[in-house]
Amino acid sequence: MADHEHDHSHDVGDHDHADDHDENDGQEVEREARRLLALSRIRQYGDTALRMKAREVDSFDDDLERLVERMTALMHEANGVGLAATQVGVLRRLFVFVDGGEDRVLVNPSVTQTSKETEVDDEGCLSLRDVLVPVERPTSVTIEGLDARGEPVKLELELPSSRIVQHELDHLDGVLIIDRTDDESRRTALARLRPQPVLGAR
Ligand SMILES: [Zn+2]
Repeated sequence: MADHEHDHSHDVGDHDHADDHDENDGQEVEREARRLLALSRIRQYGDTALRMKAREVDSFDDDLERLVERMTALMHEANGVGLAATQVGVLRRLFVFVDGGEDRVLVNPSVTQTSKETEVDDEGCLSLRDVLVPVERPTSVTIEGLDARGEPVKLELELPSSRIVQHELDHLDGVLIIDRTDDESRRTALARLRPQPVLGAR
């Protein structure tokens, strides 16, 4: 599973509930509203940005830090575990992801080692709502890049983080999970995607 929904136990705080739901219902409704709002800010299938190759980041400034903060917040609000810059329409090579409960960012990433061992598992994507398709990936990878300040980062990752970073790196090259699945799963996914309105499109 990559950046599809999973069950964060977010604390939505002490909000007022001016309705007659009990508190849990109210929190549930609010979380769902925030998730849908976040998804509306993420480019959805059909948007050309998702098919473009992102360019290297060359300046590590306040703008980059703000972008990383915005992407990290959006990822969590959408209940995702990874988000690439192309998914918010920024054609630069960076993504954020959750690694063992910790938020991470990788700028100008490249995979420098992969295991021979692979695994097939269902993946979803914040840009392909309601789609889950089987994707085969190496189970462990070494990925290198930079952090938001331009300092070198090298991570040796196992599942599930190894799968997440491969999924996000694909986004930076305009590659989506439907490109990596089998023909039948692709057909089913495309049939599901076609009648949907394209949210977040320009
Ligand atoms: Zn994705």
